[in-house]
Amino acid sequence: MSAVADAGPVALAEGLWWVGAGSDGELGGSNAYLLLADDQAVLIDPGSIRTIAATLSKVEQLIPLDALRWIVCQHQDPAITSALPQLDTLIDPGGVSIVTHQQAARSIAQYQLRMPFWLVERNRWQLALPQRLLQFIFTPYAHYPGAFCTFDAVSGTLFSGDLFACDAIGAPLFAEGEDHFERIRIHHEHYFPSREVLNQTLKRIENHPLEMIAPQRGPLVPGRLIANLVRELKGIECGLYLMAERDGDIQRLSHLNGILRDITSTMVISRDFREIADRLLAILKRAMPAVSLEFFVQLQDDTVLQLAPESRYRGVAAAPPREVSRLFGISRQACVAGSGSVSGPIVVKADGEGACRFMLPLFREADEWVYGVVVIGVSESTEPDSQARQVMEQMSEVLQVAVEREAIYRGIELERQKFYERSIRDPLTGLFTRFYMEDTLRRLFEIHDRSGGTPVALAMLDIDHFKGINDRYGHVRGDEVLCRVARQIQDDARAGDLAVRLGGEEFGLIVVGDPATEIAAIGERLRQQVAAVRFKGTFSGLRVTISIGTALRQVGESIPGFIERADLALYRAKNLGRNRVCSADTVASPGQWSLDFN
Ligand code: GH3
Ligand code: MG
Ligand code: MG
Repeated sequence: MSAVADAGPVALAEGLWWVGAGSDGELGGSNAYLLLADDQAVLIDPGSIRTIAATLSKVEQLIPLDALRWIVCQHQDPAITSALPQLDTLIDPGGVSIVTHQQAARSIAQYQLRMPFWLVERNRWQLALPQRLLQFIFTPYAHYPGAFCTFDAVSGTLFSGDLFACDAIGAPLFAEGEDHFERIRIHHEHYFPSREVLNQTLKRIENHPLEMIAPQRGPLVPGRLIANLVRELKGIECGLYLMAERDGDIQRLSHLNGILRDITSTMVISRDFREIADRLLAILKRAMPAVSLEFFVQLQDDTVLQLAPESRYRGVAAAPPREVSRLFGISRQACVAGSGSVSGPIVVKADGEGACRFMLPLFREADEWVYGVVVIGVSESTEPDSQARQVMEQMSEVLQVAVEREAIYRGIELERQKFYERSIRDPLTGLFTRFYMEDTLRRLFEIHDRSGGTPVALAMLDIDHFKGINDRYGHVRGDEVLCRVARQIQDDARAGDLAVRLGGEEFGLIVVGDPATEIAAIGERLRQQVAAVRFKGTFSGLRVTISIGTALRQVGESIPGFIERADLALYRAKNLGRNRVCSADTVASPGQWSLDFN
């Protein structure tokens, strides 16, 4: 606007001129407009004491001052009304009226002017001029309570006051590109009390055939840019003043607002916790030199889950560092007030080498104590500034939901894992369970049936006369014997074999692959090893033997069918005198594989 500052009026359309004041000063320029309808002249948003001289010199190049019949003040800001006392002395007050809203009139009346008011709301929101109709559109809180806009249907111009306005320092008279939105965004985020107010305002102006927007400050908006600006404005956050504690710095608040908006949308868009964490770290980097982000969450049973990038943010049970575990259980009140070593909700832990960690406590909605801690690694040894604090505090609110959701999910998974572990391991001997064996056989059989080339063999082992051992030594000591035999089986098994306690004093050994064909020989070796065990102490002199039945799985055979064949072979070994190995796969000549060592 500086380029046109001291030049004459600028014609905008038929009977319409810009008569504003440009300025390179701190306050920037100010737009005033002159409309001519026959002999009636209308001055819109006349300006301030600071700008009125420049405006009047332009007006007087077009009309004598006394031709002014209407002075429209779209709200009561001194930036557009403080020139009125001067005009009041220059123009015959009998021939001119101040067009405004009652709310603004109350303020303007403080100037004790001679010029009378003409109130828009008492005149059906329109002013009929010769061949020109001005329509007034009430836009309260944009951004004064009595604010309105003025629409001139002849030129399609909306005189918009503070709507579409922006900082005018060094600005051109007309907005040039789509990026103009960024210029007006901050002003609207800052001054409009809420998005509802702004959207109401935009709705009201939208259904007018707009060809140009003429704000009170900043560039005019040509028709081609209007639709996009309206759309963009509808999406912005408003009321940034509400978030300011002391600092009124609009740029800073706008930056912060952008960050907070992204935090919220991250929570809404992402359901995957890893994605949430990755996005949050990227957002944090805009407010502080953050390098890492991890979480610790305490579950109901006091297990602590760690969600960190190394485990791709899948919760794993972990022992948290001392400075984190110290925070668990502290009340919200104590946290906020700062108790002991905790000062405020965020704890800073120096890490040496110029790095530090910010620790941010999380509270579950229902509980008033810390149950989770967000740990942000920072590459400088620094205290968080007020922006960083605001971002972290905002983050903690929305994170609570995500972290809690993840903790519940991981907790259930952990529980299921424990349950699964229990279901696959026999608690007495540590061998696998029958349940697990059948599960494994199912998978092995699938491979076997598909390829036919991966033999699966089973040896079923049963301690001979175990009842007698129980009777002699007692059940508890009998358990020890069971464990000793189990250990022998486990020790003899190779990595790929599966040693199982089938129940009672019965065991199984699954052998896969090549050696499966030699299952009877493996059984025989095992039989010998058990028989060779020398028990000591109370058991001194005890000899334990086992009987074994083996089977090699046939393609297509079912699990019960396979187990039953091995079981029958075992039964045969028992019947033949125990302490021997019988194979199910020598049906043609029973007993051929029965090795009697008694
Ligand atoms: P056989 O040579 O025919 O196998 O004779 P057995 O005495 O070993 O067989 P039987 O089936 O008659 O007895 C098995 C005994 O194993 C009966 C039961 O009390 C005992 N038993 C089962 N489970 C356990 C256990 O977990 N611990 C102990 N100590 N004894 C068990
Ligand atoms: Mg038995
Ligand atoms: Mg037995």
